[in-house]
Amino acid sequence: MKVYSFLHGGISFEDRTAPGRGESVLSFLPGLAVVPLVTQNGSRSLPVVKVGDTVKEAQLIARRQGAGSANVHSPVPGKIIDNRTWNMASGVFCNSMIIRMEGSFSMLGHTEKRYKWEDYSPFELRGLIETFGVVDMDGTGVPLNDILSMYHQTDIPVTLVVRCVFDDPWLVANYVLLKERLSEIATGALIAARAACAAQILVVISLPEYAIGAELAAIITDSGQFNTELIVVGARYPQRNKRELGIALRQFERKEKKNLGLCIYLGPSTLSAVNDAIILQKPPLERYVAVGGSAVKRPKVLKARIGSRFSQLFEECGGFISRPKRTAVGSPLLGRPVFSLDEPVTASSYAVFAVCDESAVRNSATNPRVLELRNQRQLMTGKPSPVPFKHNYARAIDCIGCGECRAVCPVGLDPEDIYKMLSVQIYSPVLSKLCRQCHGCGCCEAVCPSRLPLSRLIINPSGS
Ligand code: SF4
Ligand code: SF4
Repeated sequence: MKVYSFLHGGISFEDRTAPGRGESVLSFLPGLAVVPLVTQNGSRSLPVVKVGDTVKEAQLIARRQGAGSANVHSPVPGKIIDNRTWNMASGVFCNSMIIRMEGSFSMLGHTEKRYKWEDYSPFELRGLIETFGVVDMDGTGVPLNDILSMYHQTDIPVTLVVRCVFDDPWLVANYVLLKERLSEIATGALIAARAACAAQILVVISLPEYAIGAELAAIITDSGQFNTELIVVGARYPQRNKRELGIALRQFERKEKKNLGLCIYLGPSTLSAVNDAIILQKPPLERYVAVGGSAVKRPKVLKARIGSRFSQLFEECGGFISRPKRTAVGSPLLGRPVFSLDEPVTASSYAVFAVCDESAVRNSATNPRVLELRNQRQLMTGKPSPVPFKHNYARAIDCIGCGECRAVCPVGLDPEDIYKMLSVQIYSPVLSKLCRQCHGCGCCEAVCPSRLPLSRLIINPSGS
């Protein structure tokens, strides 16, 4: 079997504090739901309800205001008790409706009427996707209709890439979702491909998960609607990244003499939501979230309502073993700090973790790996560490010159060099160009024994 992969760098990321790949656990319904009126990286939506109003389950509470924003629906029935401004972990400052759950559910526990997606034109499908507020739940929360609308009028063939690449143990929630909703995800892929007027579907699966990828591709092929291919890629992080996945797909194109044209990348959570929006005509009200980390008693994959607060999720996992030193949403490689446990699950929160161990704290003085490398270097050179650096810059004093960051950078950059120049604010056009090439995968930072904030500084050199 041919396995395609990017050419240089990357890491094999393992984390035993992430939840296992068993079944998902249905989370309790949130007594208080916090619903942000903005997609993760998008524009604000316009509220259509106010404090004091009563809302039904799945009722529209904020309307899309053009590209970048999406319709927002109430995840639970209840009363709006507040409209509060939050600074989300994503860095977005936004309003959120606080809904106190009360009354009866109009969807939960009722028989679901099913609609036939084949009856809709691509234009109607995109309209329904917009109406039900489906966003890219496996990415940055961009409204899905904005993505699909970019492609449907092009002369170049379009390929829908079903991205099932599990290069990070914190993507476990997506894996469990794929296992539990395989046929819904296959239908979601068919619908999305039709909505984007795609010519073909490509199922991309990482090697260890080959069996489930083959099953998914077989269901899509059996529908007879689209030409479908299965491609196997490596599982080294950041294989799922668009750049690295693009390298693997171009290799596939060359070897198999195919023309993929323009690619739209969608993952299991988004395709599952597309299925629900068209077949059940309901907006995304819940998502699978991996909850874990060394501070959490019983890590689990929870099926949680959007708007549930992180404190509730941690409680459902048995609470904390000890006071966490760091809590973040996303994977430890790219996670953004959570400032308040009252922050809610959003459409794109695939994981939340809390850690209490020293390795999670960026402090080189207590990192045993740094001491070990410094001692080795001292034995080899007979010189006291820190050893002389390539550049003698004061702020980079913690760098021990091991070169591990260079070895893992998939772009072929020299993070050590860039970091040292940036840390003393030596800007130049060449340095800016190098910084722009960095796509913030975080590999360099993950392997740096001195725990220097390499990728954070390189991706955002001005620190804004
Ligand atoms: S320099 Fe940028 S692209 Fe290279 S490993 Fe670091 S974060 Fe990734
Ligand atoms: S990995 Fe860290 S300590 Fe090693 S060379 Fe790179 S910046 Fe320096």
